[in-house]
Amino acid sequence: ESLVRAAADEPERAAEAALRPRRLEEFVGQRVVRDQLSLVLQAALGRGRAPDHVLLSGPPGLGKTTLAMIIAAELGASLRVTSGPAIQHAGDLAAVLSSLEEGEVLFIDEIHRLARPAEELLYVAMEDFRVDVVVGKGAGASAIPLSLPPFTVVGATTRAGLLPAPLRDRFGFTGHLDFYADDELERVLVRSAGLLDVPLEAAAAAEIASRSRGTPRIANRLLRRVRDWAQVRGDGTLSLAAARSALDVYEVDVRGLDRLDRAVLDALCRRFGGGPVGLTTLAVAVGEEPETVETVAEPFLVREGLVGRTARGRVALPPAWEHLGLPVPAGSDT
Ligand code: ATP
Repeated sequence: ESLVRAAADEPERAAEAALRPRRLEEFVGQRVVRDQLSLVLQAALGRGRAPDHVLLSGPPGLGKTTLAMIIAAELGASLRVTSGPAIQHAGDLAAVLSSLEEGEVLFIDEIHRLARPAEELLYVAMEDFRVDVVVGKGAGASAIPLSLPPFTVVGATTRAGLLPAPLRDRFGFTGHLDFYADDELERVLVRSAGLLDVPLEAAAAAEIASRSRGTPRIANRLLRRVRDWAQVRGDGTLSLAAARSALDVYEVDVRGLDRLDRAVLDALCRRFGGGPVGLTTLAVAVGEEPETVETVAEPFLVREGLVGRTARGRVALPPAWEHLGLPVPAGSDT
């Protein structure tokens, strides 16, 4: 299972929740988004009004859910949580919306996966603070407009481009989260080690950070695995040697690539001779949905200079061949 997506099980969720920053100040990195959001929130607080709706976009595990919780906390508002896939029918969404209280924050994770009727209902609610409740069926059905108290939607998506324009336009502020730099991840790790009360040496923090795929969720997860190793096979100290040994056991390579990342590189180089190959073909080759390859694996591979996106498809760049221990074919850097 991919380290990024293995978040579903309960103990992992609880461990994650314990390490979540609660206030904007505690949130490490993402200086631009933090500044922008801080202004939006302070202005709203000053006016005594609910802020504009906020859209957060970026790859998984970079802190979208955490920021949604922080937004509610900073506003002193309560948070309601749902997600695109959890809302099957427009009626489910109407029920959530009509139960909102004034000033509440409604977090919709994976908002790009809302069904069309729910999406349409949502943008009317966001714009006019109104839902039309349909009563009756067939020819006798009528829509009764129900007005809603002011509230704030925080939407999260792995890619803002996946949202239809009418919905995207209802958000007054969009924050793009990008991968974290290694020194930011080190700060996340030092903070987490403090909360977990484990002795983390600086060299170990640097090592874990450099193998965390620019992602705080992965950094925290690897920290717990290194802690396990240190407890069972070491002396409890999270040293550089402990970090290296633990990361080897868990097959996290030196670039922090996980199984899906490696599968993509492998398919690209070995099966398709370095490309160019279309996203769908590549996804079939690794047994994943195109959206997963595009939003989970690819952003990091592109940022690392391993994969390039061209008009004709995805191509392997020289570091990809090197990473797999294969000779770099002539002309593969175009
Ligand atoms: P997904 O969209 O997959 O749910 P996400 O972007 O919502 O991912 P979060 O659940 O918010 O990610 O964050 C994952 C973990 O990483 C959390 O446990 C949180 O503690 C930690 N984390 C994320 N961002 C930061 C940060 N800036 N500072 C400290 N910890 C962070």
